[in-house]
Amino acid sequence: MSYKGLPDVVTTRRRNLLESAYFTEIARGLAVTGRHLIRNLFNTDKMPTVQYPDQKRDYGPRFRGRHRLTQREDGSPRCVACMMCSTVCPADCIEIIAGEHPDPTIEKYSKEFNIDLLRCVYCGLCEEACPCDAIRMDTGIYEIAAETREAFVVNKDFLLNNDKDGTL
Ligand code: SF4
Ligand code: SF4
Repeated sequence: MSYKGLPDVVTTRRRNLLESAYFTEIARGLAVTGRHLIRNLFNTDKMPTVQYPDQKRDYGPRFRGRHRLTQREDGSPRCVACMMCSTVCPADCIEIIAGEHPDPTIEKYSKEFNIDLLRCVYCGLCEEACPCDAIRMDTGIYEIAAETREAFVVNKDFLLNNDKDGTL
């Protein structure tokens, strides 16, 4: 039974000698490449390519960049070590060690808070799960480079003082 009027059997034409040698197809391909080359050379302002890293694209306000830990007005970390973020993290890349907070109104705080950026998939679930707005991914940092794998594991001090470049 044919589908939407299409024939059941599709017959193909055999290539002639010139087509089998691919000369005409190579020439057509080169013509297309040359046409684009000349058009781009004389219209550089319309080219979609940006001269990275001298030029950088603007990302939207909802772009998820490298994480940061937020602070209260007195400068103390907002994190109360509830483990919601590390529990929800699909990459299992958040490590938290909780401690008793000296302030009785705050039950716990994170003695250690590490994120392995090499394992992170930047899904944003950690900041969505956080009940204290203690972790955000609004730094806009997407260029993240280091020379060792260990350097990609960022700790609490780093996350609290996240600067605006990608150096780890
Ligand atoms: S962005 Fe996703 S993968 Fe990365 S730390 Fe947060 S929850 Fe885990
Ligand atoms: S960052 Fe937020 S979700 Fe994660 S442990 Fe701290 S308070 Fe809980």
